[in-house]
Amino acid sequence: MRRLTLLYILIGTVLSAAVGLAIYSYVISNKLSERERLVILDTMRELAAEKIVGIESEIVKADQAVFDAVDIDNILEIEALAKRHRPVKSILVLDRNLKILPSGFVTRRDKKKDIQRFQKLFESKIIRDLSLSGATSVERSHLHTSYDGRPYLFSWARKRAKGDNYYVVIETDLPFLVGTMFSQFLASQAPRFYQVVNERSEHVYGPLLGKTSSRSVSLAFSETVSKWRLRVVQKRALSGAAKAQRQVVDFALIGSALGIIVVGLSVLLIAVRRERRANELKSEFISNVSHELKTPLSIISMFGEMLATQRTKSAEQATEYAEIIWKESVRLSRLIDNVLDFAKLERGVDAVEFAEGDFGGAVDRAVELSRHRLSRAKMELEVEFDEELPMVELDANALTLCVLNLIDNAIKYAADGKLLRIELRHVNSRLVLSVADHGPGIAKDEHSAIFDRFYRAKAVRLKPIRGSGIGLALVQHIAQAHKGDISVESEPGKGATFRLWIPVARRG
Ligand code: ADP
Repeated sequence: MRRLTLLYILIGTVLSAAVGLAIYSYVISNKLSERERLVILDTMRELAAEKIVGIESEIVKADQAVFDAVDIDNILEIEALAKRHRPVKSILVLDRNLKILPSGFVTRRDKKKDIQRFQKLFESKIIRDLSLSGATSVERSHLHTSYDGRPYLFSWARKRAKGDNYYVVIETDLPFLVGTMFSQFLASQAPRFYQVVNERSEHVYGPLLGKTSSRSVSLAFSETVSKWRLRVVQKRALSGAAKAQRQVVDFALIGSALGIIVVGLSVLLIAVRRERRANELKSEFISNVSHELKTPLSIISMFGEMLATQRTKSAEQATEYAEIIWKESVRLSRLIDNVLDFAKLERGVDAVEFAEGDFGGAVDRAVELSRHRLSRAKMELEVEFDEELPMVELDANALTLCVLNLIDNAIKYAADGKLLRIELRHVNSRLVLSVADHGPGIAKDEHSAIFDRFYRAKAVRLKPIRGSGIGLALVQHIAQAHKGDISVESEPGKGATFRLWIPVARRG
């Protein structure tokens, strides 16, 4: 009992350790994937910042070059300047009253209509929005805005010449910025993609990834196109679905490991319980067998002593005592046979040897050997055989042992029923032996269990009736070795009929 308690404690400990380990692995795996996610996001953010700095410094560099090169005395030069510095679309030079100087406006626009429209827009709206009066000669200011739904980027600075202020305004060529510079700087490298979106999150540049992408960071351009944001999108990153899938895999792995441990422990527990039960049954068996052996031995020794001390009244009585000794010793040897055959059976050795023989003869022998015990139990015996039973391949000793076991059981358990009826019939191609008593019978739910080794019916376990629980197991084994079988028909209180059959012609 203590060993079993220890085992339970051990199993509980192993189980809780396994569950703890499973939870720990799950939490760690989640933490790791979260850490991995953060590292990837950080990298993407750094990448976005790097790209923004690269693009903006290109724009600022071009603007700066233009501001530095504009010369009020040589205003016609601005045309060449605009051509030389590619992201520049227009250059406007204004006097202190914010009027465009004659020849102070160059643009890459081709159509005259477009040029006039832009100039009108500049003079009516843009100039107001640029707040040129606050401009310094040191700092460049930028304005990123839209007019009539079209985006514009301007930068401007104040310049001084001949003691007067004038202003240089540069319009950046946004289609060039998007079409050429962005493509140069933001070439996609799978699994990473770059997208530029405007203030309404509308697509400006890059692949249209829709919502399939999973992980992205977005950073605003700080200095120039400040209304736009650069998005870095990691495709093939752990999407919601992939994360769920990973969780499922984690669950499956951890779950199956746990499952294996639980199954292993259950198997261990079952094995230990079986082992314990088998040990219990074996010790019960040994004590039962020893007990069974003792009775015939004490009868033999009692009658032997009477004969030896000549305490017999007559020669007939002496013969009767000698006969009892003989029969009890046969019974004793049968009991030993039972145990030995059973031991052979347990070791998987076949205890049956076949020869052509007469089943009736084997039954007769068992009946003869049992007569004395039957009469002592005050039981009446009826025997009826079909006439002309065929000879069959059988092990006569083994079958005698079967019948002896069945009669013995009837004497042990059904002596109250008084009548025991043994029949041997030839039915179809079978020889059927039935042993019917009028004893207490056997509960239906135990009909198959009584043929299990060591099994004893609940009703007899508490009674002082000797038994080892191997008799019927042995009978069933012998019947099956003959390619036959044994069955029982019984109801509690209505006696029991055991039917053992063997085939007339041995198959196979
Ligand atoms: P044993 O008699 O040594 O206990 P058996 O294998 O011969 O073992 O029988 C198994 C059990 O079947 C018995 O313990 C008993 O409970 C039940 N049994 C066998 N024969 C009879 C019978 N004729 N009437 C009632 N119960 C029986």
